[in-house]
Amino acid sequence: MRADPRSPFVVNTHDLGRRPGSMRTLQLSAPAPADLGTELLGVPVGSPVSLEFRLESVMEGVLASGTARASLAGECARCLEPFDDEIDVEFQELYVYPESDAEEDEARRLDGDLLDLEPTVRDAVVLALPFQPVCQPDCEGLCPDCGARLLDDPGHTHDEDIDPRWSALSALRSGSSDSSTGGARSTSRTTGIISTDIEETSVGRQHADRADEDEE
Ligand SMILES: [Zn+2]
Ligand SMILES: [Zn+2]
Repeated sequence: MRADPRSPFVVNTHDLGRRPGSMRTLQLSAPAPADLGTELLGVPVGSPVSLEFRLESVMEGVLASGTARASLAGECARCLEPFDDEIDVEFQELYVYPESDAEEDEARRLDGDLLDLEPTVRDAVVLALPFQPVCQPDCEGLCPDCGARLLDDPGHTHDEDIDPRWSALSALRSGSSDSSTGGARSTSRTTGIISTDIEETSVGRQHADRADEDEE
């Protein structure tokens, strides 16, 4: 595994001297690389990742163990609302010496004296993130009828079927049943029905508008 000496996640283990038992405690803060997280939740690129860790020389290589802390930005899997969080995760990984017999795919490897913490931190962060992140544990998601965010509108209910598509249909139906009078919407009875339908439709629109604003 090649380690880029300019990467802020790469540390030089030279002064451990390959003496089993020798140890060093380090702290560093590095800007988050791209894709440090999952599709819905992760550390924003460039925001600081704080590492506190220990490097321990062992027989086969160097054992790195410590914690990584960072802020998170994500999108709720239920209501799609953006939210912030923090992560504080432990990691431990053995980096074998370059000449070790260990198979490449079962061990991380030192590159000379250089040890690249980035893949280890990435694995720890991704593993610790929830598969379905939520803005808050009791998020109720979106109304299946109108798309309103239910947390913003406690007790949100629909007394009747207000789906605008159905309202439009019933308005059409009222209009066509009126054709015998020679012109749709000419009688006061029909006008009354149509205006009721329009009111219900606009209630549906208000919910939809609110959901749109939430996404921005
Ligand atoms: Zn939510
Ligand atoms: Zn609704």
